[in-house]
Amino acid sequence: MSIKRLYFFGGGSSEGDKSQKSLLGGKGANLAEMARVGLPVPPGFTICTKTCLEYQAAGGLPDGLLAEMHDYMGRLEAATDKRFGDPSKPLLVSVRSGAAISMPGMMDTVLNLGMNAAVCEGLSALLGDRFARDSYRRFIQMFGNVVDNVSGEKFEHELDAVKKSRNVENDTQLDAAALDEVIERYRAVYLREAGSSFPEDPWQQLERSVAAVFSSWDNTRAKTYRRLNRIPDDLGTAVNVQAMVFGNLGEDCGTGVGFTRNASTGEKEFYGEYLSNAQGEDVVAGIRTPLPVMASRAAILGQTGQSLEEVDAPVFKALMEVADKLESHYSDVQDLEFTFEHGKLYLLQTRTAKRSGAAWLRTQVDFVAEGLIDTTEAVRRVPADSLAQVLAPTLDPNAAAVARGEGRCLAVGLNAGPGAASGRIAFTADDAHDRAAKGEAVILVRDETTPEDIHGMHAAQGILTARGGLTSHAAVVARGMGKPCVSGCAALFINAGKQVLRVGDKEYGPGDSLTIDGSTGEVFLGEISIGDSEVLRVLVAKTAKVEDAPTAAAFVKLLSWADELRTLNVRTNADAPHDAAVSVALGAEGIGLCRTEHMFFEAERILAVRRMILSDNAEQRAEALAVIEPMQAGDFRGLFREMAGKPVTIRFLDPPLHEFLPHEAAEIARVASELGVSAEVVSERLHGLRESNPMLGHRGCRLGIHYPEITRMQARAIITAAMDVADEGIEVLPEIMIPFVGNVIELELQKKEVMEESERIFAARGKKIPFMVGTMIEIPRAALTSGEIAGPAEFFSFGTNDLTQMTLGVSRDDSGSFLPDYVQRGIYEADPFASVDKTGVGRLMQICVDEGRAARPGIKIGICGEHGGDPPTVAFCHEIGLNYVSCSPYRVPIARLAAAQAAIAD
Ligand code: ADP
Ligand code: MG
Ligand code: MG
Repeated sequence: MSIKRLYFFGGGSSEGDKSQKSLLGGKGANLAEMARVGLPVPPGFTICTKTCLEYQAAGGLPDGLLAEMHDYMGRLEAATDKRFGDPSKPLLVSVRSGAAISMPGMMDTVLNLGMNAAVCEGLSALLGDRFARDSYRRFIQMFGNVVDNVSGEKFEHELDAVKKSRNVENDTQLDAAALDEVIERYRAVYLREAGSSFPEDPWQQLERSVAAVFSSWDNTRAKTYRRLNRIPDDLGTAVNVQAMVFGNLGEDCGTGVGFTRNASTGEKEFYGEYLSNAQGEDVVAGIRTPLPVMASRAAILGQTGQSLEEVDAPVFKALMEVADKLESHYSDVQDLEFTFEHGKLYLLQTRTAKRSGAAWLRTQVDFVAEGLIDTTEAVRRVPADSLAQVLAPTLDPNAAAVARGEGRCLAVGLNAGPGAASGRIAFTADDAHDRAAKGEAVILVRDETTPEDIHGMHAAQGILTARGGLTSHAAVVARGMGKPCVSGCAALFINAGKQVLRVGDKEYGPGDSLTIDGSTGEVFLGEISIGDSEVLRVLVAKTAKVEDAPTAAAFVKLLSWADELRTLNVRTNADAPHDAAVSVALGAEGIGLCRTEHMFFEAERILAVRRMILSDNAEQRAEALAVIEPMQAGDFRGLFREMAGKPVTIRFLDPPLHEFLPHEAAEIARVASELGVSAEVVSERLHGLRESNPMLGHRGCRLGIHYPEITRMQARAIITAAMDVADEGIEVLPEIMIPFVGNVIELELQKKEVMEESERIFAARGKKIPFMVGTMIEIPRAALTSGEIAGPAEFFSFGTNDLTQMTLGVSRDDSGSFLPDYVQRGIYEADPFASVDKTGVGRLMQICVDEGRAARPGIKIGICGEHGGDPPTVAFCHEIGLNYVSCSPYRVPIARLAAAQAAIAD
């Protein structure tokens, strides 16, 4: 059998094209495409990815490959009118790896291959001594580094020595004699490090380079990268062999990189950098600082006169034309590499540009306006998660750069909750709460947070923890609140008792300010200016006009297109009217989860709640509940008004009661005196409530079954509030949700309490309102018996946090010590608390959809766990036919976009 291994490109035609990424790699497919459409690309050929697999199987270059390479080299020689290895008219090539998916850890590029002492002499005569020697020494370094793993530093060291001896700063200032010395030193380094003398034979150089690229597919770094990113091992990499063009032939030559549009703002302007008299690697390597391509940019940087636009107008003009052509050909922003040789421009690479969330929005909306793509394509392209960046408050980038320069970046942790915040250090939630109440901006700094810290987290500008990962309590709650959070910042040593934060040998206290950037994980000392994102200023705070806000305008437009395409509804998890208002401004179509316990935590209420818990008979309990009821009803009225005409799902009390009680001695004493009982009484009650596994203990509907008066109070509060708001002429759609049901009888008992209470209210008021009673599906038994549960349940809502815990038998709060490792090893595809485990948990969800709908046709089914705002989970929910997803307010736009993308993919 023989496969076609080699593909030629150049001179206005190609054997491949852009659709062949898996065969030719990304780089090769795009080189072929550019050559095919007549863009100025140096000719060359691509050895396809299948050859890499043959190489792996054979343990060396497959039979016949060499002959084919000779054949294609002949074509290349004809196309360039040069000869490989011939000193009289030498052809030099680059050898460039390029897989279908770009992958760090893979082999790099070797430039100037084909060079040896004789060729160097020939080139000197043709193009100059300096140039030939500069190219030669570059080749030795790259080949040594890439093929034989000789560290680049070893070569740099020699170069520095020669520069020093000649008293020059830049390598461009070295003359031919100095470069001869560099070459000699490089060859000596190679001999010492690689154990053999530098290969002079061009074909040997080429064979060894191609083999090295193929071998690098299976090096440890590349393998690890593939495993972590779920890239299959059997893709293989291609190798591109391409005629060299030279940016280092003098001052009218150079090399650069550019984006066809601004990749951080999305503005329609070319953004690029270049270096004159340099080869490709120099721009990225940071040996010399590149200069801007655009004159406007140079003016901003104080480099007027040095931009490519000003220095070499013809090359600049050619570059702008090529950029336009590429963009309209690919109909997306391109990231390109170019080289110019005595006024002639060449393209060496193009690919779809990576960009910020704002740039994604603006470029796609602009492309629709320019007629390059349609609205569906625009919606399909924008990565849903990138919208998080667009909503997050942002650090002023200049101020941050200054702070870094001043050494004020103290540590870097995990980027757990996007956005930036500044404030003074608060070591406890109470302290954060009290100081914030007095108007102070604080950052809550803790080892890790617990549900008891919620009030402090609410009060703080941002949250910083020394421990915990991206799904720690701090991270999850912060993201839910839309608060910036840096978690797992291991460099911090926190002594909350002594109120000291130690980083290295420096100590900080409550008087010191920190600024955290939850988008990068950076922790700065002192304040750095921060602002609300443009989108929030326009849509929520309404302090900016959409006409003056290009990102917000693009956001609104793109999401309106998404809304037309999606079939899944998007609701929000919100407990307070303010959050509800934010979510509506961001497009929420209802509340999917209102957690009533958060309303119990407020300062004036907690005393009544504690009194209820500590009372030892139903009458006392009823008395305490009577204090709480009007407060809850007030909250619900606020929510119903805010959500006018939209469904509001309210969940009954869920957490175990001990979470509401004090735990430290001083707190216990204070509560005891407030309640007029002895500290012993409180301690005893606490002891009685203690559970060794509270997540599986006395919580959820078990509380309501044990203390029906709690259920009745909550039902009354919801229904009376709904009736009051309906009386104001506002449409209300209450949905009462019973948590933690595992057995249909539990739901029947709870529903009976609700129905009796509602009948009583309706009778007393002489009218009725419609409402629904449904349940969370969060216990596997509930999912497995969903056909029965659909009897009394008018809706299901997946509580995927608990459902995941119980299905996997993994405690979310204790998983930090092993789950990240599990994900690394590929045991779970992704963190199952962030993205639903489709195989296991998803199977239970599918059972509910099938059996629930069979038992009760048309039953409304949604999801309200943390997963509801995760794009892959949203796609899964679309696939299995849920009615809605519900997520935190700031993830609502992400879910809208992800739902539209799922509908497009369908
Ligand atoms: P990477 O994937 O690391 O960007 P590339 O293969 O794109 O590696 O090459 C590295 C640098 O060398 C780039 O700047 C590229 O433009 C330049 N380069 C590659 N091949 C040639 C060539 N034939 N002539 C001139 N420059 C080249
Ligand atoms: Mg490149
Ligand atoms: Mg739950």
